[in-house]
Amino acid sequence: MTQITPQPGIMDIALYQAGKSHVAGQARVLKLSANENPFGPSPKAIAAAQAAAPDLHRYPSTDHASLRAAIAEVHGLDPDRLICGVGSDEVLQFLTQSYTGPGDEVIYTEHGFSMYPILARQAGATPVCVPETERQVDVDQILNGVTDRTRLVFLTNPGNPTSTLLPESEVARLAESLPKHILLVIDGAYAEFVRPEVSFDGGVALVNKHPNVVMTRTFSKAYGLGGLRVGWGYAARDIIDVLNRVRQPFNLSNLSLATAEAAMRDREYLTFCVAENAKWRDWLVTELAAVGVPCDQSQTNFILARFADQDEAEACDALLQSRGIIVRKVAGYGIPEALRITVGDEEGSRAVAAGIKDFKEGAR
Ligand code: PMP
Repeated sequence: MTQITPQPGIMDIALYQAGKSHVAGQARVLKLSANENPFGPSPKAIAAAQAAAPDLHRYPSTDHASLRAAIAEVHGLDPDRLICGVGSDEVLQFLTQSYTGPGDEVIYTEHGFSMYPILARQAGATPVCVPETERQVDVDQILNGVTDRTRLVFLTNPGNPTSTLLPESEVARLAESLPKHILLVIDGAYAEFVRPEVSFDGGVALVNKHPNVVMTRTFSKAYGLGGLRVGWGYAARDIIDVLNRVRQPFNLSNLSLATAEAAMRDREYLTFCVAENAKWRDWLVTELAAVGVPCDQSQTNFILARFADQDEAEACDALLQSRGIIVRKVAGYGIPEALRITVGDEEGSRAVAAGIKDFKEGAR
């Protein structure tokens, strides 16, 4: 045992609990636990990765200009107000590292993403969890949680694992009500999946209006690039300038930059993936409702299937695992009676729906 002690607070940081990707005794699994895109990356992104490979002896761009230009063009944003990171996780880390420290409080909501308290503690700050109401972010609860020490508020919209969307008007009310020295981080990891009939711009207008609002996005979900690790943030120029000072100069590889840029530019493939997700999401929700498993209206690429209680959710999970189907238990997110299920392709959706139907019929 080493005699060398880590810095104070480090041993209070929980280790991130990733979902399973294997089941003992099952050679092939259907993984519906990590909100990955069942269709994989765009073929154009794969071709760009292959084309970038011969240049791996060269250091990558430090300013990510070409990737930022692509994101800016597609989203109608100013490229100088963008920053790219190793997954959106890294962009979130730049924010906590730059703006919070010992003695500061970081607010996140009851069912919020589990990296938020980890990132707060990594920065030496104190994570403060505020309640939600019926699995929905409650702006008044957030505002009640604000103290003199609050420096940053994390909001996932749409939510994970809740799958629901906090209406734009409520996010605007939060942005307007928070004191201007507190950073509001709108994490839009699932923004691409929001139903087109809903008014939603991912937070762009709020970032443009309020200098203390930041928006983060990822290539890991709709773009099918979870393994590549690329995310981005949009903020006021002075915030981007601060974040660039804590960013490693070569945080993204040649491969990452070229692949993510090609994925961003392939709008046709993104549209296909989002449309397939919408189709199988609605189908799955209807099938589960028919066997007595309700889901809140999902605006993401997963659904939150609610059972009678934790025992029933765990028994259903066990049956699915016996068929090699991996979904996510969300007891750790405070919803023990639910299972979070990534929307798959047709085969995956039919397999998980059949498993849940058999479980409910067997249980009767
Ligand atoms: N925010 C939310 C809400 C997420 O669910 C995830 C991925 N699980 C992330 C951020 C981080 O994603 P990545 O680092 O892959 O961009």
